Amino acid sequence: MPQPATVIVVGAGLAGLACAVHLRRAGVAVRVLEASDGVGGRIRTDIVDGFRLDRGFQVFNTGYPEAARILDIPALRLRPFTSGVIVFRDGRHERVTLPWRHPRQALSGLFARVGTPVDKAVLAAVTTRDLLLPGSLVRRRGGAERRTTEEELRHWGASPEVVENLFRPFLSGVVLERELETSGRIFHLLWRSFVRGVIGLPALGMGRIPEQLADRLPPDAVRLETPVGALTPTGVALGGGGEMEAAAVVVAADPATAGRLLPGLPVPAMRSVTTFYHAAPASPLWEPTQIVDAEGVITDTIVVTDAAPEYSSDGRALISTSVLGVHGDRDEPRVRDRLARIYGDTSSWEHVATYAIEAALPAMPPPMPLRRPVRVPAEGSGARRYVCGDHRDTGSIQGALVSGRRAARAVLEDLRTRPVAARQGRTARDRAGQA
Ligand SMILES: Cc1cc2nc3c(=O)[nH]c(=O)nc-3n(C[C@H](O)[C@H](O)[C@H](O)COP(=O)(O)OP(=O)(O)OC[C@H]3O[C@@H](n4cnc5c(N)ncnc54)[C@H](O)[C@@H]3O)c2cc1C
Repeated sequence: MPQPATVIVVGAGLAGLACAVHLRRAGVAVRVLEASDGVGGRIRTDIVDGFRLDRGFQVFNTGYPEAARILDIPALRLRPFTSGVIVFRDGRHERVTLPWRHPRQALSGLFARVGTPVDKAVLAAVTTRDLLLPGSLVRRRGGAERRTTEEELRHWGASPEVVENLFRPFLSGVVLERELETSGRIFHLLWRSFVRGVIGLPALGMGRIPEQLADRLPPDAVRLETPVGALTPTGVALGGGGEMEAAAVVVAADPATAGRLLPGLPVPAMRSVTTFYHAAPASPLWEPTQIVDAEGVITDTIVVTDAAPEYSSDGRALISTSVLGVHGDRDEPRVRDRLARIYGDTSSWEHVATYAIEAALPAMPPPMPLRRPVRVPAEGSGARRYVCGDHRDTGSIQGALVSGRRAARAVLEDLRTRPVAARQGRTARDRAGQA
């Protein structure tokens, strides 16, 4: 018999799963209700034609402090990328060693033709600051929170040339916008995580990250294909009919759904991106290095299997290419033309799939608070309400995981100090007749 849930978590993305794992560790009975047919939310991996296809190209960064806290990183078997990028511009490939992992070596070989000597000093200064300052100081307000990333780079003395030829193409694939209007403080936090960590892909796909969290929950804790239609005074109403009661409900849905379930909750604008996957008989590059497009026709491309051969079941190469915005298969020929300029002949390539992700990442313009409240006032409601997700912290794996922990902590504090539902003898009773 499944245990009745004291806490219902709505959504089995990283935030909801992290919240559930923390609650379980504290001995609280938790039920995660997920609308879709699998865990992971925006991080899932499909198997298509023998390839592992992440639902939109994204990377794992070992420099995320929260990942080290809650994930078993060695078990992900990370397949690292080269600590640099190739910038494609005017038909030329410029290799730029970025100053993570090997700061000294990187700074000596930096910016062959993409920046000035002053830029070298600027990058050294930014990197040293973000590497050495304690995270609390990088997070503290110091002016960067009022500036956009572009303004912040100029503030540090970066030349327009290096912004156009390196930072814009590189960062646009990270924050999913080319204007560099993301908060300068977010830029420093991202830079810090790049400098301190290793970037790569789990051998079996990005989907292993949420699966690893789900594996820590009891088998009956996550219920798939169970959309929550609304919150009720005592719990939730299920989209398919029926209600469930709980002492607390944590809304860990995507930002738009969270806004619908919790009227009045601010919902951020979302950035969109489309990832095209191609198969080639052999790698066109033979190295796990991201190529970024300074002209912005595409955002970035990488031969995924040069980093993680496990993404292919038959030795063919898998190439992932992302373009900002929402695109369909009809745009594939234009993308393929660009890839032919970047990699050479692509006539033997096959188009495997297109993933258009309309709501990929919350926009993070300044002033961007790093923490938003996770408690939601619920006058007249018996069940306490909470919210977590990347939109409550920063739009990233790190932000989603932190928000889940913060929500769990708030629930635990409130259950300990004000155990309303328990006092009324009203721990959850599933009235949906399915538990
Ligand atoms: C293409 C792409 C690239 C990215 N690149 C990176 C990157 O390189 N590095 C990085 O750190 N981050 C990256 N991100 C961001 C990162 O993936 C997200 O910040 C993170 O996964 C968000 O997790 P979440 O739990 O907050 O939300 P979600 O993953 O959106 O989870 C919400 C869950 O709630 C469920 N749900 C929705 N409505 C209901 C309902 N009514 N009832 C029940 N369940 C419901 C959804 O099905 C979903 O499973 C990228 C995202 C995308 C899409």
